[in-house]
Amino acid sequence: MSLNLSPVIFNIALDVPLNRTFDYLSGGFVAHIGSRVVVPFAGRNLVGILLEVKQTSDYPVEKLKPVSHVFEDVAFDKDTFKLLKFCADYYHYPLGQALISSLPLRLRQLKPAVSRKAFAYSLLPNADISKIPAKKVLLHRIITALQATPVLASGDLAFVSSGWRKAILELKNLGLVDEQEVVAVKGSLPTSSIAPQLNDEQNQAIESVLALTHQFKPWLLYGITGSGKTEVYIQIIQKILQEKNAQVLVLVPEINLTPQLEARFRSRLSQYPLVTLHSNLSESERLQNWQAASTGAARIVIGTRLSVFTPMPHLKLIVMDEEHDGSYKQQDGMRYHARDVAMVRAKQLNIPIVLGSATPSLETWFNATNSHNAHKQQYGLLSLTQRAVENAALPNIFCIDTAKSPTENGLSPLLVNALRERLKRGEQSLLFINRRGYAPVLHCGACQWIASCSRCSARLVVHLRQRRLKCHHCGHEQKIPLQCPNCGNTDLYPTGQATQRLEQTLQSIFPTARIARVDRDSMRSKDALNDLLTKVHHQEIDILVGTQMLAKGHDFPHLTLVGVIDTDSALYSPDFRASERLFAQLMQVSGRAGRAEKAGEVLIQTAFPQHALFQALRSQNYVSFANELLQERATMQFPPMSFFALLRAEANDFNQVQQFLNKAGNSARELLTNYLKPDVMIYDPVRPQMERLKGMERGQLLLQANSRAALQRLLKLWMPKCRELPVASKIRWSLDIDPLEF
Ligand code: ADP
Ligand code: ZN
Ligand code: ZN
Repeated sequence: MSLNLSPVIFNIALDVPLNRTFDYLSGGFVAHIGSRVVVPFAGRNLVGILLEVKQTSDYPVEKLKPVSHVFEDVAFDKDTFKLLKFCADYYHYPLGQALISSLPLRLRQLKPAVSRKAFAYSLLPNADISKIPAKKVLLHRIITALQATPVLASGDLAFVSSGWRKAILELKNLGLVDEQEVVAVKGSLPTSSIAPQLNDEQNQAIESVLALTHQFKPWLLYGITGSGKTEVYIQIIQKILQEKNAQVLVLVPEINLTPQLEARFRSRLSQYPLVTLHSNLSESERLQNWQAASTGAARIVIGTRLSVFTPMPHLKLIVMDEEHDGSYKQQDGMRYHARDVAMVRAKQLNIPIVLGSATPSLETWFNATNSHNAHKQQYGLLSLTQRAVENAALPNIFCIDTAKSPTENGLSPLLVNALRERLKRGEQSLLFINRRGYAPVLHCGACQWIASCSRCSARLVVHLRQRRLKCHHCGHEQKIPLQCPNCGNTDLYPTGQATQRLEQTLQSIFPTARIARVDRDSMRSKDALNDLLTKVHHQEIDILVGTQMLAKGHDFPHLTLVGVIDTDSALYSPDFRASERLFAQLMQVSGRAGRAEKAGEVLIQTAFPQHALFQALRSQNYVSFANELLQERATMQFPPMSFFALLRAEANDFNQVQQFLNKAGNSARELLTNYLKPDVMIYDPVRPQMERLKGMERGQLLLQANSRAALQRLLKLWMPKCRELPVASKIRWSLDIDPLEF
């Protein structure tokens, strides 16, 4: 007999592209907020998240269906939930999709997520063993074992008896034994890594951060490459983790950075359980590591952008390495920026956050150097201006004027000579090609025809080895034609430079040199990059040819020359962030030269040696370059002085795109005139640089405001209007807040 007549209703978030949540009957299940549930939805079962338990619904109760299952695990704690709720609002993305896509894949699936959890057991202090009845022989045996060895893992206990699980449960219930989850700490490392004697700047940085813990405080650790930023993170973390249970989240841009950083953290902070979270993990590893973070068992989490949402009950510090890196921005689904999310998280939790970079993003630099924005928490600026290793001087940077020293097959005679010298001395060289620079395209010398993709506004790239033309945007491939489809000429040749072609050219100039290429094509497998790095360290490679994959974080002590092949296209790009990005990339790649005792040299081939960017680079003066760019941005009223949102749309038929964007633009203008202030600028729809992609015609509409608040006021009223537009359901469209690319 049930006394409670009013039904229990669960309000549930689902992973569906609808801007609402759903009511279900509890079906007799008891569940906590944040639990995962299974519910019937549109003829199938879906995993959802319990948001609220209530007594009434806006829908007729008799029409509500019961939930079919409740999982035991609680996926979200209050803080993570609040963070994702904030993000769903800020990025105008459905809450259910925001919540569920932040989970490891295994937790998004219907089947129970089992991970191999390991536990360790110990006797509680003052355990009263006389409580155990004498005839319970097994319990006594386990106690004896625990008295001999204070901590026993599940595996050890299995040796005592196969019935140990039941026995341990009894001992736990008697209050005699403590159970602790153990986190697998892979491959213990040589303990040769002793902390170096810190220099004054490092000490100053560490002391500043540690003086203001347990409160929200953003720090920018601005330090040139090799200045010992990682050392600073490690020592701050060491202190923070002395607090009982404290956890630390370390965000890194891309996965190829993690092995080195991970190894350093593991060896220096070996007493603390550490897990990583990134896309190279298997799904079961990812689940296990996520669970270790969310139970508090893992004290250090190193992860890429998505890990900013990992529940960590005792989070006391966030560190973001290479904070300027573009890979912190999610480019589909909920288009969040992990730096901004991390900042919100630190503020919500009242903890410090340290952003580190040799070339901070202009957003961060602005926040750290501009004291006028009094309403915001001022970032503390910590500078490391010297290379940490004694005698490791900064490299000398020169431009090679390609007007005076013309290139042949992409290489100027000066650069070839410099390479030859390194080969003679047994030193290593790195040739860097900007991925954004152009790749070899197939060109007809008679009629100037160029092979292009039929589905994208892009040229097809020549892959000589496979004898194919490929589109790098949609994946379209075809054979290299024998004659020009336009005029029949058989004299077709590739123009432009890319890694493959450069590798071939080098091999023909230096037939005995050991050359290796590093790009997405050659580094497909998980271990390829690590294998290559090992070879470089053992000096089994003379010349490395690569894209920005190489530019990051790697230490090459025998590398003394960096050549930069083709960056000029980025100098005059229509994207207002192009020069900021190029500067960061070139600084970083220059940092690869001369990290040890050997001095490095950087040679940049360019037709514009007088360009301000190169002048700043030659004097390695990030500060003056950043301040100059900030002034430019102020004049143009571009971010960080203003805030953007971009409405993107695509369809097979461009008319529909245009119609949608025009109507959306008009509706925004109406809202501003009738309900709000004219504090948001609505531009006219335009076509992006890549007008057509994968057969879809594209367009976009830019919104600009002087404050995030003004922009959000409009978006809140405007997004529902956009969804209601009749053409909205016929096309693909999305909103990008604080877009990085246009
Ligand atoms: P960053 O992260 O700024 O590039 P790292 O922390 O990787 O710099 O430091 C570069 C190198 O200098 C590393 O090999 C590191 O062990 C070493 N190092 C860092 N701090 C010191 C120091 N105070 N004295 C000597 N060597 C140091
Ligand atoms: Zn032709
Ligand atoms: Zn294409």
